[in-house]
Amino acid sequence: MLKHIDLAMIQKLPLEKMRNLEKVEFVGNFGDPLMNPYLDDIIDFFQNQIIHISTNASLRKIDWWRNLGKKKNVQVTFCIDGLEDTHHVYRRNTSYRKIMDNAKSFISEGGKATWQFIVFKHNEDQVDTAKNLSKKLGFERINFMYSDRFDTGDTFKVYDNNVYKYDLEKATNQISLRDRLSSADGEKYWKKLYQKKGNVKCVWSIKKSIYVHSDGNVYPCCMIGGVSSGKKIEKLMYNKIVKKPFEINLKNKSFEEIIESTIFKNTLPKSFDGEPFTHPICIEWCNDVSGKYANINLKKVNM
Ligand code: SF4
Repeated sequence: MLKHIDLAMIQKLPLEKMRNLEKVEFVGNFGDPLMNPYLDDIIDFFQNQIIHISTNASLRKIDWWRNLGKKKNVQVTFCIDGLEDTHHVYRRNTSYRKIMDNAKSFISEGGKATWQFIVFKHNEDQVDTAKNLSKKLGFERINFMYSDRFDTGDTFKVYDNNVYKYDLEKATNQISLRDRLSSADGEKYWKKLYQKKGNVKCVWSIKKSIYVHSDGNVYPCCMIGGVSSGKKIEKLMYNKIVKKPFEINLKNKSFEEIIESTIFKNTLPKSFDGEPFTHPICIEWCNDVSGKYANINLKKVNM
């Protein structure tokens, strides 16, 4: 079910007690943050934190972007995967021109902007031009990265409204996790990831981050938070570990009660060590040998 996180839910966070809360991120795990009708109120709620928004940026009017640029605690990552002739290949149904106009408006008022550019085969020859353009337009930085979507092969299929459109190809120099794990052609890298797995180290608890979902559920990270809309089996497994998920929902408990709960203090940490079992998402992301975090350097582009 589509749902926006609202101000009432956000106001349940006891900010006065969260003195170490430095940064709040809206990065669109379940849709672009700019779709949220309460976004302005939510941003204004966090006066003493850095707000980071990651967006396709093809929504909202120029004036809205100008106002956002005036807010000193806001940083925006603009997801622009190429130039005018290529950006839409991955970011379908977004307008490069509108995004650039929005970025210029934001930057013109002092907004801190980052350009994030995912490199594929079809846009890899545009890296230098994008670097120069980002400087000219006043972006603070441009980050090039590889996609982690090549989990079954060197291409993946793009659909629009369930209609197949085309394949996207991996960049020439990209080494994917499946390459590193030596998965056979046509074999899902998942199998090798399991065979080579090490210990699970909860990266989000180490970096002291937490994820609040729009339905009020508090999760240890956004990847596990994905169970709310992902494969049914993943949700079943999560509920089997947590047993009483309603006890870590802001509709039923305070934030303090949730983070001090047995689930957060005991049940989840034990599950990382395999008791009663480790959730597959934790193995996929946080096992310290074949996990995605342990191999995060594969996303880096050296150009
Ligand atoms: S995937 Fe599991 S182990 Fe990794 S950060 Fe999330 S909860 Fe922690």
